[in-house]
Amino acid sequence: MPAGCALSTFLCDGVLDFIDQAIVSKFGDDLLFWFRFLDDTFAILADKHKLNTVQDFLNEFHESLNFTVEVEQKATSNVYAPLNTLPFLDLLLINNPAGILCDHFIKPSQTTRTINFSSAHAPNVHRAILMGEIKRSFAHCSTTTMKKRQAVRIKYKYLQNGYPESLIDTSIMKMSNLDSVTKRDQKTTQDRWIKVPYVKGITEVFSKALKGSGIKLACSNPVTIRTLSNKSRSSQHSPSQSTEGGGEQSGNAAVVYAIPCTNCPMVYIGQTGRNLNTRINEHNRCIKKADKSNALARHINDTGHEINLKGTKAVYVERNASIRLNLEAYTIAVNATRTLNISPPNSNMIAWNKLIRAYDVT
Ligand SMILES: [Zn+2]
Repeated sequence: MPAGCALSTFLCDGVLDFIDQAIVSKFGDDLLFWFRFLDDTFAILADKHKLNTVQDFLNEFHESLNFTVEVEQKATSNVYAPLNTLPFLDLLLINNPAGILCDHFIKPSQTTRTINFSSAHAPNVHRAILMGEIKRSFAHCSTTTMKKRQAVRIKYKYLQNGYPESLIDTSIMKMSNLDSVTKRDQKTTQDRWIKVPYVKGITEVFSKALKGSGIKLACSNPVTIRTLSNKSRSSQHSPSQSTEGGGEQSGNAAVVYAIPCTNCPMVYIGQTGRNLNTRINEHNRCIKKADKSNALARHINDTGHEINLKGTKAVYVERNASIRLNLEAYTIAVNATRTLNISPPNSNMIAWNKLIRAYDVT
């Protein structure tokens, strides 16, 4: 199967599951431990002389399947000598007489390069990268000495990438203290999060305006390798190219739209990822049925006005759903006094309302 094909993962899992079952039933008692993660397996054999027999059995399944084996080796660094070690995934397994120990494993090919502190990402992204690495490394360590070694490695790595020493030190301190980590995790679960694209200088102001509101910003970078390389997507408006424009664009898909009332200045603001015509037809059916849950039908019922469906305008064209929802919330917030919308405000709208009030954007 080709790599990347949707069926490949499913079929590979099936084949490897079949091999797992075959080997466990064939070698039974000789196999003290067998753990597979994707295509890497860690196993403990009761008799090391059976290793070749097991490998031959695995390689007889199919001519195109070739399994390689790594066995524990005398530690190459003085740290674990004279014990044997074996890397498995992100772990370095150490064969200690009292039981297997784990340390965080760094591939020899890995460099100390990571996202530089000066690169244009939200400050919490830099913190999260650092905290994530500390948390992951510490979780792999069986002893405090190992954690201390990881702390030294991480400090050196992040200093080289321009991170302030004080930030590195406090992050390591925080992660060393498990209690504070648990408290921090509990606290963040009560917050509501909205996803916004990161724009240096603006996101910081936005984030400040939301302080104390219980709403946090999850910043994303709208320009990714995918958006840069996928020409067919970018030609249909990439996430960073929201187009503001008037005129009837009812043939557009993925838009924030405005439907005006014929008799008063009120408008209905909505968004759809589908074709705008399809959405207008749905509104039309609701109006004909006098569906009270539809804001347009309700306005007709309350006032006797007519809705100008033909005057529907696409206010923004945006294929990225998250950005489109934010644009919709923003449009509702700046038109707050003249929208027909009846749905209760969501986190996006609360955030935009707060920002607009704080900085009087209207
Ligand atoms: Zn009206």
